[in-house]
Amino acid sequence: MNTNLLSNFKKFLLHCLGLFSVLSAFVSCTQAEPSKTEFALGTICTVTLFDEATDIIYDDIFNKIREIENLMSVNISASDISRINAAAGITPVHIDKDVFEVIEQAVYFAKISDGAFDPTIGNLVSLWGISSDSPRVPSREEIAEVLPLINWQDIELNENEQTVFLKRSSMALDLGAIAKGYAADAAAAIISKAGVKRAIIDLGGNIVLTGEKKDKSAWRVGIQNPVEQRGQYIGVLRILGEANKARTIVTSGVNERFIEKDGVHYHHIFSPDSGYPAENGLLSVTIITTNSMNADALSTAVFVLGYEKGRALIESIAETEAVFIFEDYSVKKTDGADLTITDNAFSLVNIK
Ligand code: FAD
Ligand code: MG
Repeated sequence: MNTNLLSNFKKFLLHCLGLFSVLSAFVSCTQAEPSKTEFALGTICTVTLFDEATDIIYDDIFNKIREIENLMSVNISASDISRINAAAGITPVHIDKDVFEVIEQAVYFAKISDGAFDPTIGNLVSLWGISSDSPRVPSREEIAEVLPLINWQDIELNENEQTVFLKRSSMALDLGAIAKGYAADAAAAIISKAGVKRAIIDLGGNIVLTGEKKDKSAWRVGIQNPVEQRGQYIGVLRILGEANKARTIVTSGVNERFIEKDGVHYHHIFSPDSGYPAENGLLSVTIITTNSMNADALSTAVFVLGYEKGRALIESIAETEAVFIFEDYSVKKTDGADLTITDNAFSLVNIK
């Protein structure tokens, strides 16, 4: 087993430990339901089908997740994203329609977040290597060198040809902040098409709940404590399900992936302006909405934008709510988020 596989396997085991807590966050699902867990997209993916579960449906879901990984991962040299990056500044690349759709949406979120979310962040992500086996704090000079290569406006999309072109050589896409959400939506679509009325999809914390609970009560979902290991919660969100509709809960936070050097904590969500981890007093941002790709992109965008601008962005989008956890353990939320704090260390502040 090479070091990369070994470290992924270790992560798998760690995540497995956290998994039971993740599922136990759905405190009103008392019955043990069959579920399937696999390691994909660099994280633990669990799907729980509450009715009509068959091996075929589970297989369809995980095959689709793997197909998305094979197309969109920067760690797979034959992926569409790797091919686009290799052809940066040289030639447009014909890609799969799913990948085209995600890049198109990534450009949209870059635009509405004024570049706080930027899918051309690939070189910066590789430079820090926070998710790799050799993470490090780069020098200021190294960061200054890659910053000019980050600019979503240099992505050229050709819908008719289904091609993507990065206009400048050495530019690099990274869909790490949006593609997990896309995969969760794709899983939800398979579930809905198969006629399964209720399900939970959890792709490393990217959660989708489909349908309503049998007794029509609200789903209860724990909000991860951003300074503790996965599976520890600061409170519970109540989310009313609806037949044939999905709800999604996606969090971006400082403790998902990070390194520490000389007592400084460096997390994996970067400011495309400074090239350093975004710092604006936030520990995490959780988005609650109906489309998981949107939630994934927004959780990252809002984390980088910070509270004021981030809240304004969320309030401009229909059916979308947010919970913000700050470094002083205060918590703020948009009006429609039904949150009860259960950890006394954290307190809900009701002012804007
Ligand atoms: P999010 O906030 O949703 O995203 C943060 C991630 O987005 C960062 O890790 C970085 O990749 C990128 N990013 C950082 N800042 C910005 C910004 N300002 N704008 C836009 N993007 C930004 N992990 C592994 O360890 N090994 C793998 O082989 C692996 N393969 C993956 C393949 C795919 C297709 C996907 C989608 C993910 C994969 N991952 C892998 C996980 C990935 O590296 C990220 O850790 C993960 O997607 C981060 O998700 P998050 O929800 O924690 O944070
Ligand atoms: Mg995200």
